[in-house]
Amino acid sequence: MDTDPQFWVRVLLLDDIETCTLKIESSFSITDDPNLNTQLPTSRFDAIDAPMNIQLVNGQITIGGRPFMNDEVIVYPDEPYIFNLDGQYYRGKLKLLIHPESGSFDAINLVPPEAYLAGVVGAEMPDHWEPEALKAQAIAARTYCLYIKKRFGTNRKWDIRKTAAHQVYRGVRAESAEIWNSVNQTKGQVLVCTQTDDTEDIFPTYYSSICGGHTENSINVFGDSFEPLTGVDCPYCRKVAKPKFFFWPKIEFDNTYVVRRLLQRYPNLKQLGKIINIEPELPSNYKDFSRLTKIKLLGSNGKSDILRAEDFRLAIDPTGRKLKSTIFQIVKRGDKWEFSSGRGWGHGVGMCQCGAQGMARKGQKAKKILTYYYPGSKIISIY
Ligand SMILES: [Zn+2]
Repeated sequence: MDTDPQFWVRVLLLDDIETCTLKIESSFSITDDPNLNTQLPTSRFDAIDAPMNIQLVNGQITIGGRPFMNDEVIVYPDEPYIFNLDGQYYRGKLKLLIHPESGSFDAINLVPPEAYLAGVVGAEMPDHWEPEALKAQAIAARTYCLYIKKRFGTNRKWDIRKTAAHQVYRGVRAESAEIWNSVNQTKGQVLVCTQTDDTEDIFPTYYSSICGGHTENSINVFGDSFEPLTGVDCPYCRKVAKPKFFFWPKIEFDNTYVVRRLLQRYPNLKQLGKIINIEPELPSNYKDFSRLTKIKLLGSNGKSDILRAEDFRLAIDPTGRKLKSTIFQIVKRGDKWEFSSGRGWGHGVGMCQCGAQGMARKGQKAKKILTYYYPGSKIISIY
């Protein structure tokens, strides 16, 4: 809890909700003073075994039946600084924030970076993996989080989501001694690279599970461009990944399902009339496979549109668990779309997590792993 507050992370735990439950096994305080003006009284509570209901009553946040005045309420557990929200334990503080227009609220975890990272590294990588792979993961996750915080956090009341949309955060249940070692042994370390204005700064250290043999240029997936994110050969993940994940099985989706999902995510596609064909466009070609980076959609009225292949994939399968990557061939069979020759898992940009484990097994240190997957970057300590 002693890290400089500027590095604390605001994680969006629950988004736009009407009720949730809170349990705190230590004594705690609650304040609804938005400026944390210590002259205003905060409410003190003893530990309460039973979960308390949090909801809005007459537009006010109420916790265990007790209303609070302001739109922002912060709950501060005492040592060991842990609270339980809807059955999940998290470290740090809990902020509740009302959306006055919709009668709902957000639950945001205010957490020191190392406690946040323990909940991320343990969710993103098995804790029995090589310590150097875990350390590489910790540095990549720290850099990524601080980049997202800096890039987007100033314009909103939270920094990062707890899902794979950013990086998975599971709080205390993801922690173990091995995970804490990887986080503490790299405390304050981030990756930097030269930016377009010649300064040195952090960059979005994307990572994904199994690259399939070559990582992808970020410009093709996320649309941003950094020297360490242009893609490297990866001979390491194939030996680490389970064969059924490295080569994923053929899957089919009904045409009506595919079209519905696409229109849900991209309503503008209505201008194509009926979507009559889906074609690969502009693949990245590697030694023994191609990754689709763009997909062309043809409409019944002769118009067409192009989506990034990664956006197409997540529109059809938001979990990414079936359509695991954009390395596939797509063929129409009757009223179904068949995705075959699937390979890899995830967007493929930046560090390949299975590849990192492969390098660590060969005795490579975290620094070597990171400069391999993010060439042109270097590690610095910022706190
Ligand atoms: Zn790989």
